[in-house]
Order: sequence, then structure tokens, then C-alpha cells
Amino acid sequence: MDTFYITTPIYYPNAPPHIGHAYTTIFADVLARYKRLTGNNVLFLTGNDEHGLKIQKVAEKQGKTPKEFTDEMAELFKKYWLSLDINYDHFIRTTDDYHERTVKEAFNYIYKKGLIYKAKYAGFYCVECEKYYSPEEYVEVDGKPHCPLHNKPLEYMEEETYYFKLSEFEKYLLDVLSNKDIVYPRSYADEVLSKINKEGLRDISIARPVERVWWGIPVPFDEKYVIYVWFDALLNYLSALDYLNNRDKFNKYWSNAHHVIGKDILWFHTVVWFSILRALDIDPPRKVIVHAFLTSKGAKMSKSVGNVVPIEELLSRYGSPDAVRYVLMRIFNMDKDSEFDFELLDNIYNSELADTYGNLVRRAGVLAQKKTDGKIYRRNIDSKIRDELENKLKSYIDAMENYEVSKAASIAIDTARLGNQYLNDTKPWEKKDPSKELYTVLETIRLATILLYPFTPRASDLVAKAFGFTIENPSKGVVESIERYNVLSAPILFKKIMSKK
Ligand SMILES: [Zn+2]
Repeated sequence: MDTFYITTPIYYPNAPPHIGHAYTTIFADVLARYKRLTGNNVLFLTGNDEHGLKIQKVAEKQGKTPKEFTDEMAELFKKYWLSLDINYDHFIRTTDDYHERTVKEAFNYIYKKGLIYKAKYAGFYCVECEKYYSPEEYVEVDGKPHCPLHNKPLEYMEEETYYFKLSEFEKYLLDVLSNKDIVYPRSYADEVLSKINKEGLRDISIARPVERVWWGIPVPFDEKYVIYVWFDALLNYLSALDYLNNRDKFNKYWSNAHHVIGKDILWFHTVVWFSILRALDIDPPRKVIVHAFLTSKGAKMSKSVGNVVPIEELLSRYGSPDAVRYVLMRIFNMDKDSEFDFELLDNIYNSELADTYGNLVRRAGVLAQKKTDGKIYRRNIDSKIRDELENKLKSYIDAMENYEVSKAASIAIDTARLGNQYLNDTKPWEKKDPSKELYTVLETIRLATILLYPFTPRASDLVAKAFGFTIENPSKGVVESIERYNVLSAPILFKKIMSKK
């Protein structure tokens, strides 16, 4: 059995997750479900990135210890993922001790290789980003350096710190990013390459003095420092595979590792991460799948911008996790930002889930019960329809293998559209024995239901039960493979909603 290791970024739990987090996490879940369905041994990892100054500060503000605060947030994140039917295999927290041990070991290993060293640093620092900004990176407002993200003045700081010799890896990174097809879509790799070529690579600070940030993993041989959150966080992808204690497991999954990320963390997940891996003598991941932002009022959703759409708002509007998953994946885009717009989502929901798929299931179910008492045996279906179904299946698999979830979801709905059209054309309700027509239309439903399963697992399971079939691996070919349908009910899946705007 092939393995498939898929990860989301670990999220910073300074606030509850919103639709932006859901966008990434649902995408990973859809791919994980598709891979399980097509016979892979999947490990789907998500979790929280719990260290660092921001968490330390938020917890202090609420009168809690960071541990108490992150414990509560971890439960809250899990609750949200459950409400969206996110079926992860492992939820990692960077405060988990197996993770902390991995980070310390990795730090030691790289230090012993001479790729981590101590030196003085002076520069302009953003407290919110926990990051120094170079003159090329910061913006000047009234002659003073400001954070380009927060638009706040930067603090000038001088301190001793530990550096990671990123500069050592320039040649390696140029080679890997140009010659291996890791970053998807490819344009993001070109973006990183051109930045390296233009600016070169400087060593990066990977520790913070404990008097400023105490909430972190201590540098193993120097307790005056904690390890910088990014170095800590990236290693979650290894510690979740039990890297220290179970190399067999690690090798098995790492060889097919897929990181799903938003485009804002591209640099860290290529340049920094690939270099850390190289320093640890580990190959780069198989794929880094990068998506553009789900924007709201033109900007990436974030608490500090104040344009966040809460997950519960979507759940209550559309009434089911299936619908929320589906509509978000229909606007999923790798290259271009997608603006969040209720009117657009309402249209997708109504026309695709309610009017097309839901309507077909209801119509065919009622008809089958009325005409044949729900029992329909296999007939040869028209070759034209069969060919169309085979084609749909093939293009769906192509789309999914290329991570094109929006296209795959559309193909699933097109399959249902084919069923509706066939019903309209053949009018089985006028026939005395419409067994052939019903078998044909149920085949369109069965295929649509299987193809929709990664997006709408609840509805798919419900239809499979109601019509007497199972959700099976579509990659082996499923058209005309079922002997008999037993239609027990005609469920109403998605009630049409009136636009509330
Ligand atoms: Zn900042």
C-alpha cells in the first residue's frame, strides 16, 4: 500500500481558528480522504504552534499561564475541526514532550556539525512578528523603520544569539528548487529562486534571549536562550512521525510527505525548511503545495485586520459541514486570491448542491420507490452515457492527482447534471418498466456520490445507505459494477437557501 503523508501548517492559537484556517485544513482533509479512498495508507497531520512571544503575551493578558491557555486553545481547535468533519490522524502540539525532545536533538545535531554558531546581532526588530527586518525589508515612515506587516515602529536591538548557517545552503537550494519539482504550483518555486538570486542568503538567528521570550524550548546547552518559534515549529513535521524513536515509520511516511501551506509562509517552508532538513541529512519533502489567500474586503483574513469570517457563521448559514466544505473548495485557488463573498457561495450552494446533486438524488429516489419498489437490477446502460461517466471519472482523478480540488468538485456535480439531463430526456416516469433508465440514472448518482465523498462525506454516506451501495475506490473503475440497487428512501440533502444579503 502506498503511503501518503499530508500536513497543514501548525496554527498559531492566539485566537480561535476562522475561515482562513478552515480553507487550508479542509483542502488537506479533502486530499487525505481522496487518498484513503483510492487505497493509500494516509497520515494526515495538523496541530498548533504553541510557543513564542505572542502566545506568552496573550496568556498573560488573560491571567493564564501559556500552558493553561494553549491547553484550552488546543481543545477549541479540535472542536472546530470536528465540526467541519476534519478527519486528521494526528494533532500535534509543539509543547508535546516528544516534539520538544526532537527539537533539542535536532538543534544539538546541527550545532555539532558547526552549522549553528553564536554571534552578536544588531538590527531592527518587530515584536509582533518576532522577527528582525533588514533595510531591504522594512518600510520607512517619517524616516523611521517600520514593520511592513504591522506598520508599527521597529525596535532597535543588540544581542548575542545563535545563528543557523543558512548561507551554506544557497547552492543546494538553487539546485533543488530548479531541478526537483517540489513546489506546486511551479510559479512559487520561481518566485523563491529569483529572491535567492537577487538577495542571496544570510544566516538567520534561531534563538531568543530568555528574558525576552521565556515561553519556548530552551537551547539544550544554554538555558539563557529559547529556540526561535520557526525552527521549533517546522520540526513538527518530523516529530509527528516519531523521528527520534521509529526510523522505519519515519522513512515510510517521509518519502511521500506533502506540506500544504499558504503563500505567506513559502520562504520558511522552502528556503529555511529545506536547509534545516539538509543539515539533518534528510531529503526535502515530496511536495510543498501552496495556495493563495481567501481574502475578505481585499485582505488576507486576520484577527488584527478585523476582517475575519467565523466558522460558525458558515455552518449556521449552510446547515452542514458538507456544504461549508464544498463551497469553500469550489473557490479554492492556488494562484489567485479568492475574495470571500456570501452571494457567490450562496449561488454555488443553491445551483450545485441543492438544485443539481440534491435534486437528482431526490427525484431518482422517489421514482425508484414508486416504479420498482426500490429494487433495480443491472442493465446495460447506453454506451454514450457510459463513456461520459468514464470520462468524468478519468478527469476527476487527473484533477485530484494535481490537487485541483475546485475542478474535481465541479466534475462531480457535472456527473449529477448528466443524470438530471438523462432523466429529462428519457422521462422514465412515463414508462411502464423504466428499469434500464433507473439503473442508468442511479449509476450517475453513485458515481457523483463517490466523487463528492472527499468534499461531502456525510451526504455521500447517507445516499449510499439510502440507495444500497458502498463508497468504493473510484480509481479501479466503478461504472456498471453494481448488481442491484435497493432504494430505501429518497433523502432531501441540501435545502435551498434564500440569499440573506
Ligand atoms: Zn511585524
